[in-house]
Amino acid sequence: MAQAVSVMDKLVSLAKRRGFVFQSSEIYGGLGSVWDYGPLGVELKNNLKKLWWRAMVQEREDIEGLDAAILMHPRVWEASGHVAGFTDPLVDCKICKNRFRADDERIKGKPGEPDAQCPVCGNRGSLTAPRMFNLMFKTFIGPVEDEAAIVYLRPETAQGIYVNYLNVMQSSRQKIPFGIAQIGKAFRNEITPGNFIFRTREFEQAEMQFFVRPGEDEKWFEYWREERMNWHVTLGISRNKLRFHEHSPEELAHYAKRAFDIQYEFPFGWQEFEGIHNRTDYDLSRHQQYSGKKLEYVDGVTKERFIPYVIETSLGIDRLMLVVLVDAYHEEEVAGEKRVVLRLHPALAPIKAGVFPLVNKDGMPEIARRLYDDLRRKMPVFYDDGGSIGRRYRRQDEAGTPFGITVDGQTTQDQTVTVRDRDTLAQERVHLDQVARYLEERLAS
Ligand code: ATP
Repeated sequence: MAQAVSVMDKLVSLAKRRGFVFQSSEIYGGLGSVWDYGPLGVELKNNLKKLWWRAMVQEREDIEGLDAAILMHPRVWEASGHVAGFTDPLVDCKICKNRFRADDERIKGKPGEPDAQCPVCGNRGSLTAPRMFNLMFKTFIGPVEDEAAIVYLRPETAQGIYVNYLNVMQSSRQKIPFGIAQIGKAFRNEITPGNFIFRTREFEQAEMQFFVRPGEDEKWFEYWREERMNWHVTLGISRNKLRFHEHSPEELAHYAKRAFDIQYEFPFGWQEFEGIHNRTDYDLSRHQQYSGKKLEYVDGVTKERFIPYVIETSLGIDRLMLVVLVDAYHEEEVAGEKRVVLRLHPALAPIKAGVFPLVNKDGMPEIARRLYDDLRRKMPVFYDDGGSIGRRYRRQDEAGTPFGITVDGQTTQDQTVTVRDRDTLAQERVHLDQVARYLEERLAS
């Protein structure tokens, strides 16, 4: 466990040092479990979102994109079951004042009973009986803060898709089976957030709802389960650290017929970062009932009417980012020196190449600068002329930059530069005119 903690600590510190992730409102002492993405973090996150969008929307004929608002009519959350049921059982320790979810594995015994022991202070009988706590954030619409003005910050993006399913289907002329995908913020007032960006109160989801004919749901469920796992492997995530976890009947959400989590083996154990759910016709039926609007699908040929079943794929972008960072993080010895390297897939790397003049004289900075200006228009690159070349390489290794390009004495004579590979450390001489092509070829593979 001590080792697990230290890997996370090292990652948190690297993420801050290199500008991936900062604590929200840090100069005010931070805000609990809310994080900001720095210059490299926003690039990495955008790359993940871009790849997801490409695979889920742009490369497919049967999925349309959507960007629904975060604020929705409050009845949406009554229909979805979130007002009544999106709750966690909360337990307090009367002695050390710590707060837990009642299902926290560290609690010994039944909270509220005399022999239950607090996992933090170790006292017996100090835990309160569980109280239900709704995880939705509330705010008010308009100037009057009364019950009638309550709106919620969405706890999932899915409902924005359900309430737009007819709009999207009719405007895009899709027929079942088809899907709607969207990426957006979601908010949950988690009781026990933590593990860096794993469980936060504000996060981003990439969700896709696939509408199918009842009876074909099981087939599509299997299809999406496989597709989603395969997609993660294309990002370069170690396959042996990925697995499925099927929800037992006790774990299944109220709306689900079947559910699988895709889990990753984090330093703190196997945990979910994407869920594949067979949500049946639950959501659309409830919205039909609560809105009074018909949400049936009419088959153009048979004229049959039915409420479609929905297969959902629900990915947390922040959790995926943690997966990618943990999986890429390596410490190794090179020529007797320790180096930290993020072996990010080139498609994910925030910076694709570092450009370095070996020394700041003899015409080298001018050539390096020209190369940098040329590359910058094609891909994110970074110019660095500060410190020894070894230190500059190590800074880029930590940032996950796949290539380092050095302009040296030989460049001024034969117009070639060295290109260093982050992972193999192999160095090749490439002609200045060929550098952009050399990089583009390797980044595409
Ligand atoms: P958990 O059991 O970890 O609370 P969940 O089962 O409630 O998660 P879902 O409602 O299925 O999660 O949400 C789908 C995805 O959204 C999760 O797999 C996760 O990646 C992401 N997600 C959910 N809650 C959070 C959170 N508080 N912080 C970051 N990501 C989250």
